[in-house]
Amino acid sequence: MNIGIISGHLIPGLLQRPEQVIVETPYGPVVLRVAKTKQHTLFFMNRHGDEGSLPPHRLNARATIAALAESHVQAVFSVGTVGSMKKTMAPGDFVVPHDFIDMTRSRPMTFFDDSRVHVDMTDSFCPTLREALLAACRKEKKATVHGKAVCLVTEGPRLETAAEIKLFAPHADIVGMTLAPEVVLAREKGLCFASLCLVCNMAAGLQDRLTASEILGIYRQQKPLLSSILRRTLEDLPPKFSCSCSKSLAQARL
Ligand SMILES: [Zn+2]
Repeated sequence: MNIGIISGHLIPGLLQRPEQVIVETPYGPVVLRVAKTKQHTLFFMNRHGDEGSLPPHRLNARATIAALAESHVQAVFSVGTVGSMKKTMAPGDFVVPHDFIDMTRSRPMTFFDDSRVHVDMTDSFCPTLREALLAACRKEKKATVHGKAVCLVTEGPRLETAAEIKLFAPHADIVGMTLAPEVVLAREKGLCFASLCLVCNMAAGLQDRLTASEILGIYRQQKPLLSSILRRTLEDLPPKFSCSCSKSLAQARL
């Protein structure tokens, strides 16, 4: 199976002898690192660009998802760091969100600018991929995982205010800047999509100060575990999916 992995950082041990490929899309060229495992071909994409320097509000998510779709990817795993809005979810914990709230403002969020296409987001993430991620997390003794969570997606690049977190805390569990519109665009292309999030800090108002070095520190510490979860997920993926993600456009056109 062809599998896409979108991440903000390289993931150690995931890609063996990757080959760099440039995919041309209507939204611009995309650099992918392609590598084979025993069962799959992996298409790895650093969403922040090859230098890792593009901020969340400038990411070209349409190009990313279009490049994966053109590479005949069937399943996409999105890896991201998030803040926790709940005291029960601590830095270092893994979260596989089941839903999201999109509070981004200025991002191109659809492939359909000239037609009326409304994809159903009732089940926001692919149930097959979510279950695969959760099963892999459960097998990792050192991993604490939360399998039900709503992710609030903010525009960035600034972090949220304490008042914003207070406003959304009754409705969301984690907060990050990159999940939308990736998840929506994947649905528009009929791709299975799920996210593995790593909590790297408590959200504003739930800890004294937020610093980028703290976020990076937790990521570095948990990177080997994150890589292990992903490799296990890929090894144990079912050969056939029972979800309906690939048919997402069937009932979406007006
Ligand atoms: Zn699916």
